[in-house]
Amino acid sequence: MARKIAFIGLGNMGGPMAANLVRKGFDVTGFDIFQEALARLAQAGGKTAGSAGEAARGADVVITMLPTGEHVHAAYAGEKGILAMAHDAAVLVDCSTVAPDVPRNIAEAAAAQGRGLAMLDAPVSGGTSGAAAGTLTFIVGGEAGVLEKTRGVFDAMGRKVFHAGAIGAGQLVKLCNNMLLGVLTIGTCEALRLGIKNGLDPKVLTEIMCQSSGQNVVLQTYSPCPGVMENVPSARGYAGGFATDLMLKDLRLASDLAQQSEVRAPLGQIVKALYELHQSRGSGPLDHSSVFNLSATLDEL
Ligand code: NAD
Repeated sequence: MARKIAFIGLGNMGGPMAANLVRKGFDVTGFDIFQEALARLAQAGGKTAGSAGEAARGADVVITMLPTGEHVHAAYAGEKGILAMAHDAAVLVDCSTVAPDVPRNIAEAAAAQGRGLAMLDAPVSGGTSGAAAGTLTFIVGGEAGVLEKTRGVFDAMGRKVFHAGAIGAGQLVKLCNNMLLGVLTIGTCEALRLGIKNGLDPKVLTEIMCQSSGQNVVLQTYSPCPGVMENVPSARGYAGGFATDLMLKDLRLASDLAQQSEVRAPLGQIVKALYELHQSRGSGPLDHSSVFNLSATLDEL
């Protein structure tokens, strides 16, 4: 079984995922451009490298967990990139949320080397709390045999592993999912604010809607309204979590996909426009549930 892991991108998600691999006994070498992220991995018992390629050298499995497709391409490309440095027959796993063409292109380049390199796209669901608790869901695209070979690595970081189909299929599922998450988030904000404006206690309103037909994952586990729930970004000034910048990236990818496949998705478009407005007001680094504050300012327009 694969024991040596390279982990590139040790941020809100990658940091705790890599730490879980260390805790489960894997030999983890990480790389991040942010020194503090590297220091956190070292503190958790991992090794650190000076570049993505250096981390990848000698690893059985190379995992990337980076913000965007551009970051992923950059980590793989070049003389000192992952594709050049990974050893023969290594499995390359991209867990970032990116356009389906990103893993497809990398898989093609890996196959062209004729060294037995295999590629999986494996975006995740479960957020930063799932990353920390080791309860993530992995949505995997690629060959079933490669997934089986890598299953122990996914199991160390998550609870569920789905095989979505061929390379890129994991990203297709993830983009559909995140477009729906955006719709649920904005809808939940609007319902909560309507109730609050009419004198309802948001905790009581939440409790009742959680048992009624409006129940959904945002209302139940990720309240955007401060004071309703503990241990969620809204309880700490929307720090950490899943940044507005990243949510908007996913909504744009979903919108591109809809356009390419000639699917009309009007709610997805409206949610994207609202997140664009939210980002333009300086909320990009805040958790995406901070869009609760945007909906309040819309009343003044
Ligand atoms: P993040 O910004 O917290 O972490 C990204 C890390 O990558 C940072 O530490 C950054 O320094 C590092 N980085 C950037 N460029 C790099 C490079 N060239 N080489 C090495 N490291 C580099 O982002 P995150 O929240 O961990 O999200 C990562 C990916 O996971 C994104 O694609 C996001 O959409 C997806 N995702 C996030 C969540 C969430 O709840 N945060 C949930 C599911 C999926």
